[in-house]
Amino acid sequence: MSRWISRFRKNQVVSLSSAIHHQKPSQASPPPIRVSITESAGRGVFATRRIGAGQLIHTAKPLLTHPSLSTLNTVCYFCLRNITPNNTSHHLLFCSEDCKHNSKVFYDVESRADWSAFHDYCRSQGLKYPLLAKRLACMIISGAASADFVDILQPASLSNEMISQMEEGFGLLRIAFVKADIMDEQMTFLSKQWYASVLSRIRINAFRIELAGGSYEDLLSMAAASIEAEIAVGNAVYMLPSFYNHDCDPNVHIVWIENADARLKALRDVEEGEELRICYIDVSMSRDARQTVLSQGFGFQCNCSRCLSGE
Ligand SMILES: [Zn+2]
Ligand SMILES: [Zn+2]
Repeated sequence: MSRWISRFRKNQVVSLSSAIHHQKPSQASPPPIRVSITESAGRGVFATRRIGAGQLIHTAKPLLTHPSLSTLNTVCYFCLRNITPNNTSHHLLFCSEDCKHNSKVFYDVESRADWSAFHDYCRSQGLKYPLLAKRLACMIISGAASADFVDILQPASLSNEMISQMEEGFGLLRIAFVKADIMDEQMTFLSKQWYASVLSRIRINAFRIELAGGSYEDLLSMAAASIEAEIAVGNAVYMLPSFYNHDCDPNVHIVWIENADARLKALRDVEEGEELRICYIDVSMSRDARQTVLSQGFGFQCNCSRCLSGE
């Protein structure tokens, strides 16, 4: 089962190929992958040549990011890079002038509103995806993204119960913009339907970002933080990485070294034409636990060879 809708329109094909070819403009040759329709799982990513174990297949910039609530003041607003606070600035929000420049228009919208009630709601309910919906709404209001920015992503199916649970978040999001004097004309997209549609897509396409890079001290504090179960610097949504189908014994994994730029690396030798797959969940879980999480969280039953072998 792909995270991507299987029917795709012509303009989407164009954007798929441009997504592959423009991941890294400085690179002379495009990455050794193609996106095709698979027999059973909708879209999938395939190797166009042999790829050696450990090789970097491609990188991907996020479409959308948001720090964890616990890292709001310690990671970059835009790229989620850890920021070491210095004595002169306690609330340094950007790691670089580039990040500041790239997010300026929607940061201006976001910083005009008071998010305390919305953040309290997310914190008390243990929710992280509404934060990405909030960031996307700020991007749309500022003109940095179109209202259908994430429509190409496959949506999860939502129960009526889930939709009614979203009402509170939607109400708080909307009121924050109203109180910040965002004009009605700028919020015409902001309906309950838009909010539910965006969250249903974010839910199965967002990646939890844990940085592998950093100093020894960072690693130690990560180890300490993991006891408190929150070591993620934030969450992000990507285009190309969302093309990858799932396998409980994947041949590709995603790593984040210093910020939310994703690096997709081969875990073992891959032959030309082979499908590239990542694991959406914790690979160390038992078969039953994996089946439950994949079915409830992603809406499909996994028939990968590992699951079929009962392992
Ligand atoms: Zn940054
Ligand atoms: Zn499986």
